[in-house]
Amino acid sequence: MNDPVSAPPVIALLPEDAPFTRDQRAWLNGFFAGLLTQVAARTAAAVAPKLKVPVIYASQTGTAESLSRKLAKEARVKGFDSQPQELGSLTLEVLAQMKHAIIIASTHGEGDPPDSALIFAMQLEAAHSPKLAGLKYAVLALGDRTYSKFCHFGKLLDERFAELGATRLLDRIEADNSVDEPFRAFRERLWPELKKAAPGVGPVVSASETTHDLDDDPQERWTREQPFAATLRSKEVLSAVDSDKEVRHIVLSLAGSELHYEPGDALGVWPRNAPDLVDRVLAICTIARDTVVALGDTTLTAAEALSARVEIAKLSISTVIKFAAIAKDAELHSLVQPERSADLEHYLYGRDAIDLLARAPSAIPDAQALIDLLPPLAPRLYSISSSLAAHPEEVHLTVSVLRHTRDARARGGVASTDFADRVDIQGTIPVYVHRNPRFRLPTDPGVPLIMIGPGTGIAPFRSFLWQRKAQHFTGRAWLFFGDRHAHKDFLYRKELDAFLDDGTLTRLDTAFSRDQETKIYVQDRMRVASAELWQWIRDGASIYVCGDATRMAKDVDVALQQVFIDQGKLSEAKAKLEVRTLGATGRYMRDVY
Ligand code: NAP
Repeated sequence: MNDPVSAPPVIALLPEDAPFTRDQRAWLNGFFAGLLTQVAARTAAAVAPKLKVPVIYASQTGTAESLSRKLAKEARVKGFDSQPQELGSLTLEVLAQMKHAIIIASTHGEGDPPDSALIFAMQLEAAHSPKLAGLKYAVLALGDRTYSKFCHFGKLLDERFAELGATRLLDRIEADNSVDEPFRAFRERLWPELKKAAPGVGPVVSASETTHDLDDDPQERWTREQPFAATLRSKEVLSAVDSDKEVRHIVLSLAGSELHYEPGDALGVWPRNAPDLVDRVLAICTIARDTVVALGDTTLTAAEALSARVEIAKLSISTVIKFAAIAKDAELHSLVQPERSADLEHYLYGRDAIDLLARAPSAIPDAQALIDLLPPLAPRLYSISSSLAAHPEEVHLTVSVLRHTRDARARGGVASTDFADRVDIQGTIPVYVHRNPRFRLPTDPGVPLIMIGPGTGIAPFRSFLWQRKAQHFTGRAWLFFGDRHAHKDFLYRKELDAFLDDGTLTRLDTAFSRDQETKIYVQDRMRVASAELWQWIRDGASIYVCGDATRMAKDVDVALQQVFIDQGKLSEAKAKLEVRTLGATGRYMRDVY
């Protein structure tokens, strides 16, 4: 007899006179009952409110934003109610109302939050009581290991959220320039945790929708993983022969690619390491060029891996840590301790793989160990300096060629020397567009522009100006440009003069730092023009800064605050808040690193 408590209800779905034996009928009734239970569960899942899981991003150059769009999409496919949302659009109070939040946060410059998140960061710092007790969260922190405050903002969010009473769904994951692997690991750990929070959630769309490669935007034909081989048309040197710098105007053909970019976007370039550096690395480790090594799912020769797949022209902290352990190098081991980060930064500066390997080449037993030691080669991003409206099927870059000598050995930047020395005219180089939606011309063409871009920081502004000229925009535009010497380093001088003549550019203020005894920088020119700058800002101008993040962008930020203090008669704290608000509302945009 059936136990009346634990036995499942027997549902007779088939009529008694159906042409089946008693056993067949019992089996079929069981089968249909099971089927109905599954359908009911699916229907319940479909009508039950889905778990809300916003993907909140803090992005400076668009990477965190693009990852958050991909993650939110995957979350929707998995049955969650998920949308990307900018951290800067939230307050702590709004966040406190949320039950779940996935955070993807970039750090830029010296451990700074992205501009759009500066006000949120101020609020977070000031908060005391545990406000976030109802929140469960996970943080993916993006950063660049060459900076000592690696992933600082992501860490800050993660730690402060916990202090304010929120619960971590999983340990923070930190990603360096190559985000693919950490992004994959983050997703792999995230879904089971969210599933625990919402056990009923299952895929509510067809499985085929989940098979998109989330690392590639299906809208884009050419991507980081599948770049377009652009043809080099020219690489004219812009700086004078007697300049200390070598800045080149690179013109690449995009013919046949249908690649599209907007002013403000960057071009991702996959460079190859210099052949002589590859040869030296092979020689010092006594490895034959054609030794086969494994990298991910593929096998290739050691020479090919060193040329195009791993970083050898600069050192990363993780490589030094690994090598210190393999080589039992006490000096290096001491150098990588957290309290010696300044010494480590000093050691890494300008050094390459040879400098490290030369300490103990025999510590590397074979080619595979060498490849495993080195980080993957990352593409280089350059601000685009052309406009498709003015330069159809072309993309232009303004590239400073990095060269220096150390220990009697010539060294250089990977991509910049590739353009200058190794890619011939009509040769090709793999490229893709890196979107930068946070650095855009205003949609209203009448909005005045204030652009501050010393050195190669002028690149996106050349793109802006060509775009405005091609589209006959009428708004005012003001450029602050600076470099070392007017007669050697005045990039695009003729073009800028022509823009002034035809009204594309309203005003040009230059700061040539080394043309007089006392240095003059763009921010000094801003101070002199404080009253006019204030007027432009009051007229609704958008302010853009591009170039060096460590010193220039910080000093320009202070100069801008000073305009608010002097002209707006604001206190220092109020001026800072006003400038942060300009950043949060998209009127003060910075593309700096
Ligand atoms: P640079 O080294 O920045 O020098 C350009 C001018 O800026 C020089 O006259 C220099 O003067 C001056 N300068 C130095 N310190 C300054 C400060 N604190 N404030 C204002 N000006 C200062 O030029 P570059 O070699 O062309 O390099 C440009 C920088 O921008 C690089 O760091 C590059 O990586 C970066 N960049 C970033 C982006 C981006 O984020 N998308 C795009 C392009 C370039 P002195 O040398 O005489 O002191």
